[in-house]
Amino acid sequence: MKEKFLGVDVSNYTYDQLKKNIMTDINEHRKSFIVAINPEKILQAQKDADLLHLLNTATYQIPDGVGILIASRMTGGTIRERVTGIDMLLALCEQASLHGKSVFLYGAKPGVAEKASHRLKEMYPDLKIAGIIDGYEKDQDHIKDTINQAKPDIVFVALGSPRQEYWIVDHMEEMDAKVFQGVGGSFDVLSG
Ligand code: UDP
Repeated sequence: MKEKFLGVDVSNYTYDQLKKNIMTDINEHRKSFIVAINPEKILQAQKDADLLHLLNTATYQIPDGVGILIASRMTGGTIRERVTGIDMLLALCEQASLHGKSVFLYGAKPGVAEKASHRLKEMYPDLKIAGIIDGYEKDQDHIKDTINQAKPDIVFVALGSPRQEYWIVDHMEEMDAKVFQGVGGSFDVLSG
């Protein structure tokens, strides 16, 4: 269920399908990697074969930009609903709180993810936040061990793009969490 734009895959699932599929992935112990695709990323990938490959490695490439919807319509595709990175994050937090799953927030400047976590708890009081690490921590073993010890189901990674996506592909196999989403500046937005 993907459409290709200049070589970059984009998933043609709606929000509701994404929520359902990702929760099923968790329950069936499948790993998934979510990346938000916008026209800027597609253009960047034209000049960077590694980035193109990385974006296409993701399980779900969500259509984060009206440019994608227009391109889909023009090429006979079926993508009609924009799914932004932050809305996907909120949808997953809602699902996690409804189904007893936990989330981990990794990234942004010290203190930002804490503030974002308070905002998320206001929105979803039952949400389990398994842990937080800021995005300037350098010790990769410490990051990996802290996340694994917290046993989250979902890890949101806010290191900026494409750094966060490279971090996810480099580490997701050695982590026990199931879902990894690159969320860019979302913690900053939630904390502000
Ligand atoms: N960031 C980080 N570690 C770094 C560099 C950036 O945690 O070494 C964070 C930064 O604090 C910000 C996010 O990554 O919270 C990047 O946000 P931006 O809006 O630039 O990301 P984009 O969505 O544009 O990729």
